[in-house]
Amino acid sequence: MAEYVYIDGKFYTKDDAKISVYDHGLLYGDGVFEGIRAYNGKVFRLDEHIDRMYDGAKAIMLTPPVTKEEMKEIILETLRKNNLRDAYIRPIITRGKGDLGLDPNKCPKPTVICIAETWGAMYGDLYEKGLSAVTVSVRRNAPEALPTNIKSLNYLNNILAKLEANVKGGNEAIIFDVRGNLAEGSGDNIFVVKGGAIRTPFVQINLNGVTRGAVFELCGKLGIPISEANMGYFDMYTADEMFVTGTAAEICPVTKVDGRPIGTGKPGPITKKLMAAYRELTMTTGTPIYDD
Ligand code: PMP
Repeated sequence: MAEYVYIDGKFYTKDDAKISVYDHGLLYGDGVFEGIRAYNGKVFRLDEHIDRMYDGAKAIMLTPPVTKEEMKEIILETLRKNNLRDAYIRPIITRGKGDLGLDPNKCPKPTVICIAETWGAMYGDLYEKGLSAVTVSVRRNAPEALPTNIKSLNYLNNILAKLEANVKGGNEAIIFDVRGNLAEGSGDNIFVVKGGAIRTPFVQINLNGVTRGAVFELCGKLGIPISEANMGYFDMYTADEMFVTGTAAEICPVTKVDGRPIGTGKPGPITKKLMAAYRELTMTTGTPIYDD
């Protein structure tokens, strides 16, 4: 089946989906994007993703050429065009075509792109075994330099962390902020479980994850205490359980950090409970793609 990509009002086959080399999304990483999933014919937390994307655009003074409602329709239309019910969706808004200088004032029209593909469980059998994560030396961008809550096309900081994790043989990177506090993974938020309670780094030093938000809600429903905290190596190495969350990663246990087993070295009961509750939530809620 052909796969279609949306660019500025039209659909193109995957091979023909191209944008200008003068687009500042390419030249400078100037733009914002989202990673969204659809489950069982419904888009999970569509409004939250669109709100985050438009807040990011506002923060970089990028005025999207389509309204939030239009963007949502573009996403649903891309899913329908590709006959998808379960998918990973990647909307992107770049600053658009400009000259070789970095000045955004020279870019008259932002580019709007939407890609949707089938993408199953990102970490394969590691949902059963748990990730073997490694701490990395590269620090998360300081919010004072590049706010981590803008999901911008500039992902080099995260890529540097991932490269280091790859070199060290880890499945995922654990990144600290410039002050030495646990921040997040290369593409997911981090949670630490100790004595029946969950802690996660403050939202100011990581991306405000939609899955992270869902975990707070689920903890409320399940009666599991959860709070934000500054944490370091000690908190991880002495944790009972750890897990990461993200749209692509969903909820995945972390059973080793820097070669040290976390808790029993197996996915723990609280993590498993949340994984099941998250699955249920994603399968039963969301914006319908089709009329059926
Ligand atoms: N942190 C980073 C750096 C990410 O790229 C992502 C994935 N978007 C997340 C956290 C998790 O966010 P979400 O749950 O909204 O996918």
